[in-house]
Amino acid sequence: MQTLEQTREPESPEDELRALMTMASHDLKSPLASVVAHVQMLSEDYGDALGDGFRRDIAAIERGLRRISQLAQDLLQYARADHALDLAPVALRDVVGEVLTDHVAAPDQALVTLDGSWPTVPADAGLLRHVLDNLIGNAIKYAPADTTPQIEVNAVALPGGGVRVEVADNGIGIPESDRARVFDAFHRCANTGNRPGTGLGLAICRRIVEHHGGRIGADDNPGGGTRFWFTLPPADQ
Ligand code: ADP
Repeated sequence: MQTLEQTREPESPEDELRALMTMASHDLKSPLASVVAHVQMLSEDYGDALGDGFRRDIAAIERGLRRISQLAQDLLQYARADHALDLAPVALRDVVGEVLTDHVAAPDQALVTLDGSWPTVPADAGLLRHVLDNLIGNAIKYAPADTTPQIEVNAVALPGGGVRVEVADNGIGIPESDRARVFDAFHRCANTGNRPGTGLGLAICRRIVEHHGGRIGADDNPGGGTRFWFTLPPADQ
């Protein structure tokens, strides 16, 4: 009698690693949420009584937990980025609008310009949203300290079909020496300072865009900052 294990196709080491990463990052979510909740309760219940030293330690634990949560979330997204695509027509302008609402709670938090023809594109809406969320989130995060982020998003239909989307900012820019590696997993540029991050966001974007059959890149923005761009092919490619 054949067992299930014997009939299963052997997985490549990369598939196996990805499955393991998905499982580990997924299974980390609920114990982490529980630890975060208990640390918050500790802080609320004893923060006043135990004084400054205790509150400083709790704040450091909370920062560490936030970093671990972000890493678990990013690893999960990275492992999922090349799952089967759920393709459907996506109204790009609506997705950008939603992402901007999430990131820019008040108008003075960022100056946003939208431009272009905003075609509807065949894409996996959830994954495309993730790409725009990362690029727009970075445009805000990597603004120089004490400057209002200026973000320009535009989307144009390409002559042969498909779309090119650009997210430009007035941020700290990408040093020449980091250019080649900026889309590599875990790479963070020399000028990030103490801004939080895992170095996985752009690697996830690249996987998602390439999985759709598109390309992604980053250029200097004339006048300062960076201009990220990506393309998506037309429906029949
Ligand atoms: P992170 O979690 O570090 O933000 P990303 O993969 O999103 O990871 O980005 C990788 C690195 O690229 C960042 O650490 C940062 O150094 C650089 N970077 C990304 N977006 C921008 C931007 N808009 N302006 C300047 N640097 C950026």
